[in-house]
Amino acid sequence: MDYDSLKRILDDKGVKLIAVSKTQPPERILELYEKGHRLFGENRVQELVPKYEALPRDIEWHLIGHLQTNKVKYVAPFVAMIQSVDRFKLLREIEKQAAKAGRVIDCLLQFHIAQEETKFGFHEDEAMAMLESEEFRALQHVRICGVMGMATFTDDREQVRREFRSLRQIFERLKAHYFADQPHFREISMGMSGDWDIAVEEGSTMVRIGSLLFGPRNQ
Ligand SMILES: *Cc1c(COP(=O)(O)O)cnc(C)c1O
Repeated sequence: MDYDSLKRILDDKGVKLIAVSKTQPPERILELYEKGHRLFGENRVQELVPKYEALPRDIEWHLIGHLQTNKVKYVAPFVAMIQSVDRFKLLREIEKQAAKAGRVIDCLLQFHIAQEETKFGFHEDEAMAMLESEEFRALQHVRICGVMGMATFTDDREQVRREFRSLRQIFERLKAHYFADQPHFREISMGMSGDWDIAVEEGSTMVRIGSLLFGPRNQ
């Protein structure tokens, strides 16, 4: 699908498009940049940092992949959002590195909604325990803006729909319990190339799309 058509559909619905540029060279990113696109997603720190350095500074970089604590320091100075916060330990490290960088970093809590064991993410009770803790409430340099999740990689569209629906319900419960007075807690990042249309129907506010925009990846 071409960028303009996809962007038009998403704009109509008020859904943000994160162009997932992993494995794509800077030239491909610039093609979208020239069209006015600014939101890009990468899943590896080693790939994100050199791209940040080589490309225009007004790009908003979203980290969407599993993040090791020892790599947070490399992205803390510039990352627009870390979507893949999947454990308290990681959030503590983001707090520490954001403080050093003199920033507040926007984050999403990643939830495990798929059947596959390989995927990362909080379970709801675990996230609630964190959000209720004194330690969490004392954090000053992270701002939780919503939730993120990946559905099972399957042709069963009803299963995918149920999983997205479960993420939406987690979002609604967290919003009601912990973020009711915080308007910035508003993002539900779900939907990729194969399932973005279902995600949008189920309330996604942000889709992360790679191969549909850039073509198949080599790696
Ligand atoms: C690669 C990736 C995407 C995009 O995948 P496509 O199927 O190419 O759209 C979205 N989210 C995450 C977390 C990814 O790693």
